[in-house]
Amino acid sequence: MSSKRVLALWDEKGENAKDTSILRKKSVELPVPMDKESREIIQILIDSFLERDDAVGLAAPQIGINKRIIAFRIKGFEGKGEIIDPDDFEVLINPRITQKRGEMVKGVEGCLSCPDIQVEIIRFPEIKVRALNAKGEKINKKYLDYVARVIQHEIDHLDGKLIVDYGGDIYYPKSKQLFFEKLFKY
Ligand SMILES: [Zn+2]
Repeated sequence: MSSKRVLALWDEKGENAKDTSILRKKSVELPVPMDKESREIIQILIDSFLERDDAVGLAAPQIGINKRIIAFRIKGFEGKGEIIDPDDFEVLINPRITQKRGEMVKGVEGCLSCPDIQVEIIRFPEIKVRALNAKGEKINKKYLDYVARVIQHEIDHLDGKLIVDYGGDIYYPKSKQLFFEKLFKY
């Protein structure tokens, strides 16, 4: 396994300028058909994702690779924990949302790249996505509810957008109030 550290906008010392610049960059598509290097990058993302038992999803820029690849759970959210079954997660390459439907739903999201906070964000409950799977095959698939939310969150990462950009209410532990007040310049 060759997994990588997850980048974050801040650490306990404050803003993390180097990580931020990578997380804020727009990621580029993988070549089609996929080459050897692309397959290696996909495997690194999968390894990094599977190593984190606290991750619902992970996008390549979060491990310092500005390519359009995301990995996310499609079941087994309740207990989190280690993913053992390969059917429990999916990988999408060059994903594009082709349809958004339904009345937008409010939900609270966290992000490994925005440690210790949660943000209220409204998202579509139904999306259609065109992408390649990990084998490089074209797929066109509908996702609903929580999984649709996770995918919208991960695709945001590919465009350098993070949960703090939505302007929604931000929640953090009281013990870190001073830190975040300073960081967000209240
Ligand atoms: Zn995230």
